[in-house]
Amino acid sequence: MENVLEQISKVKRDKLGTDIPIVIFRALRHFTSIYASDLLGEKGANILFVNAGRTLGKELGKVLYDQDINRYLSNVSDFVKKEKIGIINVAEFSDEKLVIQLDECITCAGMDNIGKRICFFEVGLVLGIVEYYLGKKLSAFESRCNANGEGVCEVTVILK
Ligand SMILES: [Zn+2]
Repeated sequence: MENVLEQISKVKRDKLGTDIPIVIFRALRHFTSIYASDLLGEKGANILFVNAGRTLGKELGKVLYDQDINRYLSNVSDFVKKEKIGIINVAEFSDEKLVIQLDECITCAGMDNIGKRICFFEVGLVLGIVEYYLGKKLSAFESRCNANGEGVCEVTVILK
């Protein structure tokens, strides 16, 4: 059976094509997040978005896989840029942690400071991609966010 990515990649929009304005993506994120928080509480909603991103990250991991970690990260970086999710910079990579900065983040770039970090989907995405490569469960958190006035979107994955 084909995977979910293949299923949802099938688009027939002869006049409109495959792109949408970023504001539509952000509106979907924003309002979904409000109602998810109503139903699940803020913490539950955050977990929901992390797990959604994480599932996508694992699916992408399969597609972008390379045995060589640097080539894998380079495949991921090329994909993330091509799909206009953001521009990846590896800020730190040690035995303890991997810190990924996402410039021009699809969710938070250019936003005013609203006093909280909001990119839980992106946290999950990075987490799932790393988990797929290492074949084990890890934890991650957003360590900086444009929406929290920190100038960049940044995900830290704890490797041990
Ligand atoms: Zn962010």
